[in-house]
Amino acid sequence: MGLKENVEKVRADIRAAAIAAGRDPEAVTLLAATKTQRSETIRAAIAAGITACGENRVQELTAHLADNAYEGAQVHFIGHLQTNKVKYVVGRVALIHSVSSEKLLRAIADRADKLGLVQDILLEVNLAGEASKSGFAPEEALSAARLAEELGGVRLRGLMCIPPAAAAPGENLPYFQKLRRLAVDITREMVDNDIDMDVLSMGMSGDYPDAVLAGSTCVRVGSALFGPRPPMSSLPHD
Ligand SMILES: *Cc1c(COP(=O)(O)O)cnc(C)c1O
Repeated sequence: MGLKENVEKVRADIRAAAIAAGRDPEAVTLLAATKTQRSETIRAAIAAGITACGENRVQELTAHLADNAYEGAQVHFIGHLQTNKVKYVVGRVALIHSVSSEKLLRAIADRADKLGLVQDILLEVNLAGEASKSGFAPEEALSAARLAEELGGVRLRGLMCIPPAAAAPGENLPYFQKLRRLAVDITREMVDNDIDMDVLSMGMSGDYPDAVLAGSTCVRVGSALFGPRPPMSSLPHD
């Protein structure tokens, strides 16, 4: 199947899941996870109706920005971000999904302050406590949200998670429901930022229908759009 057919299939799945959950399908953004893709593929995805792209690596983001590859769509940052690289990301993307530590949160806010802008962010939550993944523990997320609210340079828009790869449909539903409840609890505790808490970034190629059932507003889909990727270990690092 081609890219256009894949975009249509994923959109149809999102629509079906949203309707099954009594939700508005338009409330779910299909974000194309474009890691390892070339600029021309990104342009083709946008031509096929993609309105938001998500990058994992600073190096690829920088190269595609220089290429004007995202013209006609938003670009978000969804990958692990080192504090010494925030200057390449803050102010250049619509939303940073992967704020995974207080140190990174402060570095992003500092950089945004210096540039005189407010950076939209999500907090990444490590729901399954996986050692291989970054993110706040669920019980740390509220204090991180409070810190984000105090810091001038950032606007907290919601939460993001990357649960373990699902082996079967339905398997990750409990994680997605947990992230949703956590977002509701945190929003209730916030003072000024509560009206901005409108994003739940959850769901990937293997589990996005379940994420939509549980309330996702942004699914990050790569291989279901672009086909299988070469393994990350075979790619150069930043
Ligand atoms: C690669 C990636 C995705 C998309 O993964 P697929 O399984 O290919 O859909 C989503 N989110 C993040 C953070 C990713 O790194």
